[in-house]
Amino acid sequence: MIIELERGRQSSLDQIRDLAARFGNRIERSEGTGVYDTILVIGDNREFAARLDFIRGLPGVQAVWEASAGYNNIARVVRSSDGKALHRDRRVVEVKGADGKLRRFGGGKHIFVCGPDSPQTLEQTLATARLARAVGEKFGITERVMLRGGAFKPRTRPIDWRGLGMKGIAMLDAAREDTGLPYVTEVMDHSLVEQIGQHADMLQIGTRNAQNFDLLEAAGRFGKPVILKRGFGNEADEWFYSAEYIANQGNLDIVLCERGMKTLFTKGGYCRNQPDLNACTHARKQTILPVIFDPSHVSGDHRIVAENLMAACGHLVDGSITETVHAESFRQDQLCDASQALVMDAYCRLVEAVLAFEQHVQPHMLAINRQTGAL
Ligand code: PEP
Ligand code: MN
Repeated sequence: MIIELERGRQSSLDQIRDLAARFGNRIERSEGTGVYDTILVIGDNREFAARLDFIRGLPGVQAVWEASAGYNNIARVVRSSDGKALHRDRRVVEVKGADGKLRRFGGGKHIFVCGPDSPQTLEQTLATARLARAVGEKFGITERVMLRGGAFKPRTRPIDWRGLGMKGIAMLDAAREDTGLPYVTEVMDHSLVEQIGQHADMLQIGTRNAQNFDLLEAAGRFGKPVILKRGFGNEADEWFYSAEYIANQGNLDIVLCERGMKTLFTKGGYCRNQPDLNACTHARKQTILPVIFDPSHVSGDHRIVAENLMAACGHLVDGSITETVHAESFRQDQLCDASQALVMDAYCRLVEAVLAFEQHVQPHMLAINRQTGAL
């Protein structure tokens, strides 16, 4: 629902905000045309919309219009059925580290999320975290580095190792304590959102759970930032509607993540999943959400992780999430996704390459996009 309100009508604005809050909604105000501001009501706003007459009668309300069906909470452009349109700015999703610094996804600089597929031992988890911190310090970008690690692992075969659960979370907590870097970790079931969410700085919803609607809603209600991977067989719109499930609970702190899909062609074994890079660009145009890329799960092989990430940079992604191993000698002990883990010193070179891209090539890409109208 969109309300056009005369600028400066503070008491009407307050009443709209209070009414929204009563039904668990929030408002987002942006500058409209002329002397009008535009107010978008965020969340499931059916109850709010039932008070249409009251809203229409408030002093200064110029127009109230219903957005036509779509993922309106996260859409870049919200439209009415009769052709009105509200254009929204892209959103920055912030994650605060124990070092007090904000990681700003969508803030114009690549955010580097790295770490093991999964924490297995305290030594391994701390070693990776310290190396990640060192990468940040080396390039003066600590506020752009954060950790990853799945303590609860979705596995194809039930006999495979499925992570350390809360013991793994405790290792990630220790890594954060030691380095100040925030971490993201996967949650697989709605009943675990609170328990894991009280520890983690950011939750990950994985590709296999991309359409687990109870989980999406629970993460939305919980309110911490979420990385939402695209389902490996989902169309772009399905991905956006999954994000809408989170947003509809009032949580817009969502980062979309492309991680490749199963296709006929991945059967040849030269990559694990086929990256859909155009979907990154599409997501940037269609939604207000930051978009990151996972070069590890598209590759399945650490020797092709770097080229995949650089290709995604060409699509102007807002960041990446990469699986790393602290030392080559640990690869043989890694119990999940060992072959795709990039050793930390190679990752350090890759970060340098991304920074070089950002400095020397990205300005040209932005200029081209402005010219073609692709931004
Ligand atoms: C992971 O990040 O380790 C993971 C399981 O990712 P995905 O859901 O993309 O397979
Ligand atoms: Mn993995």
